Amino acid sequence: MRSVVAIILTALTLACDRAPAPAVPASDNEQVVGRGQGKDEWWHSLPRAAWAELTPIAQSFAWFEVFEVRPGVLAIYEPGQFEEVISYLILGGERALLFDTGLGIGDMRGVVSELTDLPIVVINSHTHYDHVGGNHAFDSIYGTDLQYTRDHERGRGHDEVSEFVSEGWIWKETPPGFSRDAFVSRPFTVSQRLVDGQLLSLGGVELEVLLTPGHAPDSLCLLDRRRRLLFTGDTFYPATLYAHLPGSTFDDYERTAERLASLADSVDVVLPAHNEPTMPADELLAFRDAFRAMRGGEAEYVLTDGDREYDFGRFSVLVADPPPWRAR
Ligand SMILES: [Zn+2]
Repeated sequence: MRSVVAIILTALTLACDRAPAPAVPASDNEQVVGRGQGKDEWWHSLPRAAWAELTPIAQSFAWFEVFEVRPGVLAIYEPGQFEEVISYLILGGERALLFDTGLGIGDMRGVVSELTDLPIVVINSHTHYDHVGGNHAFDSIYGTDLQYTRDHERGRGHDEVSEFVSEGWIWKETPPGFSRDAFVSRPFTVSQRLVDGQLLSLGGVELEVLLTPGHAPDSLCLLDRRRRLLFTGDTFYPATLYAHLPGSTFDDYERTAERLASLADSVDVVLPAHNEPTMPADELLAFRDAFRAMRGGEAEYVLTDGDREYDFGRFSVLVADPPPWRAR
C-alpha cells in the first residue's frame, strides 16, 4: 500500500511521460475496488527507510524479510507484492503467537519454523486474503465468532484472488513451486473463538484481544500492556486506510478510532500490518481526530474512483460517496 504522496507523484509522472493509461475495467472484487490506479512500478520507492533502523534476522526464504522490532517481536515482511504486508511473530516463554500469515505466496510455516521451535497459535488481524494466506499450514488458529470470519474460513477461489498476483502487483521473483495460475486463498479451520478483552498468555508475555471492527467486521488488535505495544492490523497504518470496502463500516471504524486513541497513553508504539513496522502511539490521536473531522464535515476530500479520499498527511482514508455514516 502506498502513501498518498507517492500516488500523486506517480500520477504526475504518468501525466508527464506518457499517454494516460487505459481505463482499468471495473471489478467486482471487494479488495480491488477503488485501488486499481497508481500502482505502476510502485516498487521503485522501496526499500522504505523505516526498515533500515531494524536488525534483519537471517532466514532462508527469499520471499520474506524478517526484522526484530523488539526483543521477541519479529516482523515478517513481504515487500515483493503491492500490499507490502507485515505479519508478526510474538515469542513467549511457552508458545508463540503469529499475528497474520501473509499472502500465501511464500512458505510462512517454513520461515516461522526457522525462527522458533515454540508451538504456534495463529490469530488474524482480519480475514482479508493478504493476512490469512498461510493459515492452512497451521493447526491452532483463533478467530472471531462472526459469520464474516466463518465465510472466509472456506477460502477464496482463483477468480477472487488472481488479480493480486497479476501484472503490476508483484516485482520480486516468486518462490519455487508457486504458480500464479493456481493461486487461491486456501481454506483453514478456526479452533478457538475469541471474545473482546480476552487475555492470551504466551508464558511471560500477555496479549489482550481488542475486537475493533471498521475496516472489516472481524478486524482485531492485540495489546501488550506491559511492553506498551499495540498491533493494529489494517485498522491503522501509515497509508490509505480502507473504510469503503464491502464489509467496512464507517460508524464502527469511528468507534474503533475513539477506542484506540484512548489507549495512546498506555502504549508507545503501534505495529501495523502494511508498509512500515512502527508508528508512534500519538498518531492514534490523529487517527481519532480524522474520523471526527470527516463526520463533522470539516475535512477536505477528493473523489478517487468514485470514493472520497480524505488526506490527513501520514495517512488518508477512503470512504464511499455519498458518505455512509448515520446521522447522530
Ligand atoms: Zn484488509
